[in-house]
Amino acid sequence: MTDPILPGATVGVLGSGQLGRMFALAARRLGYRVHTFSPDTDTPTGQIADREVVAEYDDLDAVRDFARHVGVVTFEFENVPAETAQAVAQVVPVRPGGEVLHVAQNRLREKTFLARHGFPCAPFRHVTSREGLHTALEEIGAPAILKTAGFGYDGKGQARIHQAGEAGAAWDALGGSDCVLEAWVDFEREVSVVAARATDGTFAHYGLIENNHLGGILDVSLCPPSFEGMGAALEAEAEAVTRAVFEALDVVGVLCVEFFVTQAGRLLINEIAPRPHNSGHLTLNAHATSQFEQQLRAVCGLPLGSVARLRPAAMANLLGDLWAERTPDWAAALAFPDVSLHLYGKEEARPGRKMGHLTALADTPAEAARLVRAARAAL
Ligand code: AMP
Repeated sequence: MTDPILPGATVGVLGSGQLGRMFALAARRLGYRVHTFSPDTDTPTGQIADREVVAEYDDLDAVRDFARHVGVVTFEFENVPAETAQAVAQVVPVRPGGEVLHVAQNRLREKTFLARHGFPCAPFRHVTSREGLHTALEEIGAPAILKTAGFGYDGKGQARIHQAGEAGAAWDALGGSDCVLEAWVDFEREVSVVAARATDGTFAHYGLIENNHLGGILDVSLCPPSFEGMGAALEAEAEAVTRAVFEALDVVGVLCVEFFVTQAGRLLINEIAPRPHNSGHLTLNAHATSQFEQQLRAVCGLPLGSVARLRPAAMANLLGDLWAERTPDWAAALAFPDVSLHLYGKEEARPGRKMGHLTALADTPAEAARLVRAARAAL
């Protein structure tokens, strides 16, 4: 194990959104200094950090200069160019490493990696032309979903193909070029496992989290899952798969594996995110150590914290749509006992933009979900 980076040192974050903000809050609480790097100003992370470096990710001189002022660099946004991570790695450790970024930032590389290692995922084909899409669709069958290979998130860069006749429109909608065609999964549920791995290989996870999406964007997460029939065997399998993903990619840090649970009760990996994940935001209130503190501990070479769950919890995202008519009535949500409010400091509330979240704690996950939805409705 390399020498740990101790409180008082400076940690660097590539990216400046809400994930970096919550990481920076955890780091500040533990007495670290935080520098953030992104092309933007007055960012969610920059508002908390000691220093907000504003430069393009491909400005490698600026990247190297940023790295010289910190003890370790992590990221909150995986779509930074591979050269950026390489430039940092010449100066200080990057955790997780650039190879993890490289795999996770591109659906094709990610799916190829998963399939090659025998991880369960939906059948897929690489598609690079309109004709290729027709062939792939014949092989995979409709319904299917076409996704851009790079830079997709929150259901962006996706087009559903219900029947073969819709293929052309889907190709046009995504601007065609480098895509992945995936079989449509008629899933029963979506779940995720958020976990961490330390520099000495120690592994810790938060158990299964149940996720409900709306329009391709996470809406409400519950931990533990509320539903029946989620057998202990499935939970153990999800944890084992997650651990194997960490080992296969040699991840030091936090990573989330998102799964579909099929009607037949099978687990398929939807995607992996090599950083704290929206579905893990409830760990801030519901667990002894949050996913953000866990990321800090892992990347600094420190022991992981306890993942003990204090109470069942549910998290509801607050999207920009809530601002459509007026500023949400914060006092109304804060009047709910056992509900906590997290806002990300974003000025502009665009539809679909993640502006904050609410977390409710209760005696059962179903009750927590009811509470968090009620608090959001009161906004
Ligand atoms: P993604 O950005 O790929 O995680 O997709 C966002 C959401 O779209 C997922 O959480 C699912 O709810 C839905 N989705 C994505 N891919 C598929 C698929 N192959 N089959 C069914 N639903 C999907």
